[in-house]
Amino acid sequence: MSLQDKDRIFTNVHGFQPWNLKAAQHRGDWDKTKKLLEIGADEIIERIKASGLRGRGGAGFPTGMKWSFMPKTPSPERPNFLVINADESEPGSCKDREIIRHDPHKLIEGALVAGFAMRARAAYIYIRGEFIYEAKVLEAAVAEAYAAGLIGKNACKSGYDFDVFVHRGAGAYICGEETAMIESLEGKKGQPRLKPPFPAGAGLYGCPTTVNNVESISVTPTILRRGPEWFSSFGNPNNAGTKLFQISGHVNTPCVVEEAMSIPFRELIEKHAGGIRGGWDNLLAVIPGGSSVPLVPAAQIMDAPMDFDGLKALGSGLGTAAVIVMDKSTDIVRAISRLSYFYKHESCGQCTPCREGTGWMWRVMERLREGHADVSEIDTLFEVTKQVEGHTICALGDAAAWPIQGLIRHFRPEIERRIANANGGEMLEAAE
Ligand code: NAD
Ligand code: SF4
Repeated sequence: MSLQDKDRIFTNVHGFQPWNLKAAQHRGDWDKTKKLLEIGADEIIERIKASGLRGRGGAGFPTGMKWSFMPKTPSPERPNFLVINADESEPGSCKDREIIRHDPHKLIEGALVAGFAMRARAAYIYIRGEFIYEAKVLEAAVAEAYAAGLIGKNACKSGYDFDVFVHRGAGAYICGEETAMIESLEGKKGQPRLKPPFPAGAGLYGCPTTVNNVESISVTPTILRRGPEWFSSFGNPNNAGTKLFQISGHVNTPCVVEEAMSIPFRELIEKHAGGIRGGWDNLLAVIPGGSSVPLVPAAQIMDAPMDFDGLKALGSGLGTAAVIVMDKSTDIVRAISRLSYFYKHESCGQCTPCREGTGWMWRVMERLREGHADVSEIDTLFEVTKQVEGHTICALGDAAAWPIQGLIRHFRPEIERRIANANGGEMLEAAE
């Protein structure tokens, strides 16, 4: 089922109305929030579980289940914390930025509701350092919420004390990884920790912590108001709800749009992005979920449901639902090589397969881009991606490996053609 206007949660995502408290209340935010809290912490978690909400930061872990890992009786010495990941840095992703710019009160109200359900003492919103305007909007919105008694002592007259802090990052992609974010919040160098323990066991300052994405938190008050069944009525089973898609690249009208999960790719693009530049025959490939997921060739993605399981079945993923569309004018080898450089640049250097492997993969990708390689290097490169994948502390290693795997899997003839062209039509084999 595709979404109608009345079903949209983010009614101001395009910023046609002001972001401020008065306008947000007019749109229905902060409406009887105290009543939402009266549902009770455990029941809120049950309803979020029943809604089928899965994490919107890219990994898709069930949100209600994650909340249920938090201790039910935290001690004053070891309080529970909520950390909200607003360090949106995945190439192609730009949805959390739009929420914060135009609908910050959805996030702050969501923080209160989620924090209450998890018995959290406070929420830390870790916002990407480059989001200067957005950080100012968010800080102003938090100040409005404090002034109105919606957060802080006796938040919404509920008897519950809850603080919200905005913390600005300093430009490192890796600080979007949840444990690197926690390290960074503690004032240390942002480097991922080994998991387990997961943050619910030992997170911020060693205390139980849940890290959730901006979109995941922002949708929770609406889910509670409209009911979990309403939310789960959208999308395929196990892929419930509405979702912000960010459509960029070679479409006629790039956009950020809220749609029902599982909408077929072609319908998403036709309905919201004005179709493919030059027509559907001109489509080459799509990266459907931000740069960390493998590309999918045109023929395979047309009718694919845009959700976690549908894209996984194609060897890719929904990720952040940042849909990067590439038409036939794209130099696909160059595009993936550029992504390779990004991961090499952003590796924190802590583990050897990632630190060495990302540089190695990028250098081979550059040689393939120029064609100054021999064909056997394609297999060697694939083998290296397999040695990086699954052998690192955090997901950055996988994220660096997967786009290259996707390229080799689907565009090997194009790589071979470049090598042949650069060698005057001959395909060189490595000297034994
Ligand atoms: P992950 O699968 O390791 O974890 C996802 C979440 O589930 C985490 O909060 C983790 O603590 C929790 N979790 C997983 N297994 C658990 C368990 N057994 N017990 C308790 N909690 C558990 O993934 P990740 O490394 O957090 O995220 C990777 C994803 O992030 C990628 O798929 C990518 O799409 C996305 N990403 C997003 C951005 C962005 O800008 N939004 C940037 C980079 C990557
Ligand atoms: Fe750092 Fe890369 Fe290891 Fe992640 S995988 S901890 S980014 S070196």
